[in-house]
Amino acid sequence: MLDGLATDAERLSAALLAIEDERSWNAEAELTRSLEIERAALALGDGLLVTRAQLCQANMRLRSGDVSGAAAQIWQVHQWAVSHDERLLLARTHLVWSNIHQHLSDAEQALEHAVLAVELLDEDSTTHMHIWHRTKLADALWAAGSMDAARIRYRQAEQLAVESGSPALLCLLNNYAYTEFDTGNQKRAEEVAERLQVLADERGELLEPAYLDTIGWIQIGNERYEDAERTMQVCIDRYADGRYDNADAMPMYLLTLARAQRGLGAYRQAQASLDASRILCLERDLGDLMVRVHEEQAELHAAQGDFAGAFAVHKVFFGAYQTRHSVQREARTRTRQAMFETAEARQEAERFREQARRDQLTGLHNRRYVDERLPGLIQSDPKLTVALVDLDHFKQVNDRLSHNVGDQVLVQVADLLARELSMACPDGFVARLGGEEFLVVLPDTSVTGAAVLLDHVRRVVRGHDWKPLTCGLPVTVSIGVAGVAEVPDATQPALLSTADSRLYAAKHAGRDRVVSAADHHGGRRGYAQHAEAA
Ligand code: GH3
Ligand code: MG
Ligand code: MG
Repeated sequence: MLDGLATDAERLSAALLAIEDERSWNAEAELTRSLEIERAALALGDGLLVTRAQLCQANMRLRSGDVSGAAAQIWQVHQWAVSHDERLLLARTHLVWSNIHQHLSDAEQALEHAVLAVELLDEDSTTHMHIWHRTKLADALWAAGSMDAARIRYRQAEQLAVESGSPALLCLLNNYAYTEFDTGNQKRAEEVAERLQVLADERGELLEPAYLDTIGWIQIGNERYEDAERTMQVCIDRYADGRYDNADAMPMYLLTLARAQRGLGAYRQAQASLDASRILCLERDLGDLMVRVHEEQAELHAAQGDFAGAFAVHKVFFGAYQTRHSVQREARTRTRQAMFETAEARQEAERFREQARRDQLTGLHNRRYVDERLPGLIQSDPKLTVALVDLDHFKQVNDRLSHNVGDQVLVQVADLLARELSMACPDGFVARLGGEEFLVVLPDTSVTGAAVLLDHVRRVVRGHDWKPLTCGLPVTVSIGVAGVAEVPDATQPALLSTADSRLYAAKHAGRDRVVSAADHHGGRRGYAQHAEAA
């Protein structure tokens, strides 16, 4: 199917959509795939595809348990999506972010992001997004303690999924059923679980073991132990078929089975199931699940009248529970800190980067910034024009007044330049190259247009009310202009050197003027000059 697509970008986009809109079971493989896609997208220079691939990576990292890795990546993706106003990407970003917070047990933040993930949906969003974002919002509402609000979203998602025949339907019904069960609404849970089974039958699909486990628990909650035992036998057989691979799945199912068997009074079988679960927990170092095994063991002793045994195991359970609880809390704190540090560190680095590219005195960009930006602009903009602006007889300001006044003059000239430019050429910038020399960069501006603009700037400087600062000493500037179009094989040094020789010509011709284009036939008089009598 993908071969029918016209361009590489379309092919990559389709490959990404498959990862974005489908629930794969293999997070590792999807991570590798999205790293490959990112490389291909980088080669194409397609920022949106690159960032979509990064979001897929963050999601897969989260799914394989690397919460802080996912969190670090999501910041970047979020910034890109915001600065490029990519609504669809932003909606998906908030959904992954919501999941990250859910992993950190931060229900409030998870809910906030889930709300945004739904609010950002529009007619461009895929059907899967409409269904899945509402499902996740419902999950987040339940986790935040609002099952009533959650139910509304589950139902909306269910309706959309039924109408569109979406494969997400079974998963969303599983979550819906589980959350009803967890909230203590056993009857409602059973209704949803039944729909889950009926719809799976209608679609000719086998329910995944995880969904059967949900159904098993709901049956236990409704004291239908026989049904629950049967469900869990099917669940375990199906899991053993081997299509699934999840370390804690089998011991969890065995635990559910043991619980059903205890309900039936089949204590011997219950003990056997529980022992099998315990062995797997030990082998696989599953601390959280082990806590539940201890808990069930205590219940099993009590059910058989062995209260001393029950009490002993209960103490073990309680100790293990508390240990796990604090381990989890520490892990969450660490991850939160890592996330916070990443964000902080990035902001700090950006602040530093920005500062290093600013002139301390005037706040304008500095030479370093020019060296980073200008070569690219020269390359990409055949109509780029630059101008060197130098204050006239500035030494006199320092000598006659003071260095401090000189500084203030520089600051005011800088403000005037920046203000005039921001109005006339918002894409351009002004930098202070050093001393009393400034560079004006004007993208997409002809040399003639630039000369007119700069002559206006020159007049503004001259016409500014300098009296309060310089006690009548005039402040004027001389300006040399050069355009990429008129400098063959323009490089930064060639362009600046042309501008500099014109600045020199302006000084020589009497200062307070703009010189823009050299007349190759004449002498200094041949320069195109903008000046007027003092
Ligand atoms: P011209 O019209 O030929 O450009 O004359 P000028 O006096 O402006 O040029 P010159 O290059 O001879 O002197 C520049 C002076 O600018 C020398 C230096 O003291 C002063 N200057 C350089 N940087 C600063 C600064 O940061 N603050 C102050 N107050 N003065 C500075
Ligand atoms: Mg000067
Ligand atoms: Mg100078």
